[in-house]
Amino acid sequence: MYENLFYFRTISENLCKYTRFWQKLYNFAFLCIMVLINSQFLKVADDEIQRQIDKRTNWFQTVYRDKKIIRLDSGDVVRPLAPCVVKAMTGAIAEMGDEATFKGRGPLGGYPFLTDAIVKFNFKNYRVKIEPDEVFINHGTKEDLVGMGDILCRDNRIAVIDPVSQDYIESNVIGNRAGDLTENRQWSHILYLECKKENDFMPEFPKLRSDVIYLSYPNNPTGCVMTRETLEKWVKYAIENDILILFDATYKSFITDADIPRTIYEIKDAKKVAIEFRSFSKNAAFTGLHCGYTIIPKKLSGYSFRANKSASLNALWRKRLMIKNYTPPYIIQKGAEAIYSEEGLKWVAENVSYYMSNAAIMRRALSEARLKYWGGVNSPYIWVESPYGSSWKLFDKLLNDCCILSSPGERFGPLGKGFVRLSSFANQSKVIMAGTRISDIK
Ligand SMILES: *Cc1c(COP(=O)(O)O)cnc(C)c1O
Repeated sequence: MYENLFYFRTISENLCKYTRFWQKLYNFAFLCIMVLINSQFLKVADDEIQRQIDKRTNWFQTVYRDKKIIRLDSGDVVRPLAPCVVKAMTGAIAEMGDEATFKGRGPLGGYPFLTDAIVKFNFKNYRVKIEPDEVFINHGTKEDLVGMGDILCRDNRIAVIDPVSQDYIESNVIGNRAGDLTENRQWSHILYLECKKENDFMPEFPKLRSDVIYLSYPNNPTGCVMTRETLEKWVKYAIENDILILFDATYKSFITDADIPRTIYEIKDAKKVAIEFRSFSKNAAFTGLHCGYTIIPKKLSGYSFRANKSASLNALWRKRLMIKNYTPPYIIQKGAEAIYSEEGLKWVAENVSYYMSNAAIMRRALSEARLKYWGGVNSPYIWVESPYGSSWKLFDKLLNDCCILSSPGERFGPLGKGFVRLSSFANQSKVIMAGTRISDIK
């Protein structure tokens, strides 16, 4: 169809050089069509689940006007920035206003003061050797997670764990790697690695050949973590099968168990197969500042059959940055640097522990209500099984009986059905109130 249109367009373009009639026809046919769009975007459905949530919440608020909903549905944080971060940014603003200290565009990949701090505190302290030029400061990890497809061939077969953040999948839909949506809400070209309660929400290796695998631990939404042993198995599998692992470690600060790796690079040879994505969003309240970082080891390479050669992914990403991105503002990066000060590190630990005590309150209440759940130990999320089979029934019960807003599991993929996600990103006094109400659920 597209080729025909293109052909017809070319002919008419040539003809209309000669006659007014053709020119008119051409204008009629094409000027009303206007520009041609990336039709992959049409495949991404409008957010039906959000519509359902809004409908139910609006209904509740219309009927019970004076009841206040406690929001435990959020993937966004509520507590403010650390004072030392605010101070660092204020100082940076003053520097920008002075000719002697003014900064223009920053270096691609980030300012060395920040990449050096990251290397030291997040890797060297765990005996992992990462070079500063393997760190790319980004405008929030989401941007890099969904942008990574730019440097990968369209023909790669993608595997994702299910349930998981749908951004991974939808970025591959618009990148034309996902095929079509089938009846069971799965995309035809994507391999889904099932995470079910029967396997403790740990995926098995894909049954078919895949080229890129998205892993995300501690996981959003199930709250589960991968043990060192399991992660070792995955890295080994990736090495043996030439697979690229895109490892989302956004929630690594929430890990408390000593034997769970703090970075995938703690696993031997992971640098040959894995890109790691990390963020200041959840542990340091940066969701509104947008700053995170991506680690692309220089050992990682990819191959092109068309060009008949291999290339370093680090170099390709650098090229992409040059074309598409600036480094985040100096002011923001100075704020991020302050996270690694003595005061900042202490503040982050306290912040994480505030949210984790929210999780503990909810876990206790869920146990008292005899609801089955996972997570909430090394992760801010709790994955609750609906005793009624349907996620929406538990969603409604929590809303109507407890005034609690949760996230229905369907939001995170087909296998989320039958679960809801509770989030610890809320004010503690509200969580305590929510806990009391959950314990009383009949
Ligand atoms: C919040 C979140 C991110 C990163 O968020 P940014 O604000 O873009 O850094 C990445 N992955 C998951 C699963 C998240 O929940």
